[in-house]
Amino acid sequence: MTGTGWRASKLTGVLFDLDDTLVDHRGAVDRGLRVWLGGLGLDGSLEEHVERWFALETHHYERWQRREIGFREQRRARIRAFLPHCDLRDDAVADDVFAGFLACYRAAWSAFADAGRALAGALEAGLRVGILTNGDQVAQEDKLRRTGLATYGVPVFASSSLPAAKPDPRAFHRACAALGVEPAGAVMVGDSLRHDVRGARAAGLEGVLVDRLGRYDRRPAGVTRVRSLADLAW
Ligand SMILES: [Mg+2]
Repeated sequence: MTGTGWRASKLTGVLFDLDDTLVDHRGAVDRGLRVWLGGLGLDGSLEEHVERWFALETHHYERWQRREIGFREQRRARIRAFLPHCDLRDDAVADDVFAGFLACYRAAWSAFADAGRALAGALEAGLRVGILTNGDQVAQEDKLRRTGLATYGVPVFASSSLPAAKPDPRAFHRACAALGVEPAGAVMVGDSLRHDVRGARAAGLEGVLVDRLGRYDRRPAGVTRVRSLADLAW
């Protein structure tokens, strides 16, 4: 582990992000999308459609996180914007088309190879462990079951069940309270500099950035960074 500000001696709890930290969300979207798109017969390059999908996902998912629209509505907004030439004005039709993608996405879910060991290691170190994720409670728990990570018995705190999503401090404080740990004795481990690291620090926790792709080689000063969950040392 590199960086500054690590306070392992005071540590009593750890929160892990789920998507792109424990579970390969982006890889699953990419693989699922290619299968789904293959059956749609769209014009244009596959790469462009994939990039467009990710851009729409980011935009509308964030709107849901800010409570501007509902969970189902963000899905409908995404599918309508993604397929502008299809008549998806009827909610049931939009839901049905989105379900086609969802089935391919779910089939592609997989945990990162280091994820199970990271959860087990933190538990063995005597830490209180939780998963704090910006997502839907039912969907995220389903993801843990299907990827095998539910076997560790770690509680999931999804934003749909919280007063607010990360990086709002209330998300971190509610998760810490549920684990019975003080924010000052907890660390958030995640792949998002804004949601997981800066959000955690603003809430009084430590934050560790998981940078699997080396996107933050020139990391902001003072940010603790790991390239793999195997680099976490408690
Ligand atoms: Mg993430």
